[in-house]
Amino acid sequence: MSRTKKNIGIDVEVPKTKCTDKKCPFHGNLSVRGQIIEGTVEGTGMIQSAVVVKERRVKIPKYERYIKARSRFHAHIPKCITISKGDRVKIAECRKLSKTISFVVIGKVS
Ligand SMILES: [Zn+2]
Repeated sequence: MSRTKKNIGIDVEVPKTKCTDKKCPFHGNLSVRGQIIEGTVEGTGMIQSAVVVKERRVKIPKYERYIKARSRFHAHIPKCITISKGDRVKIAECRKLSKTISFVVIGKVS
């Protein structure tokens, strides 16, 4: 059974287009829980998935300076969301979808 629109419990815009993706938090039966991360899309070369990079500053106490640190996340892209390289996106933690994917893209950040 496919539900038409679902409240996923996160304050994001629900995609206007419907999809039949089982691994879609809006139209499928994938539940999101845990972390929500904002990052930049580094690539969408994988099938239906993206590499999202989150940059943060880490303080080095000895020198009282900051360095850039980055974390890379693999995230599934539901069929109703289209993103491209360079976009700011929000990803939400979900169940493990593959060996390296446990996040799903839930929308763009304007
Ligand atoms: Zn969908």
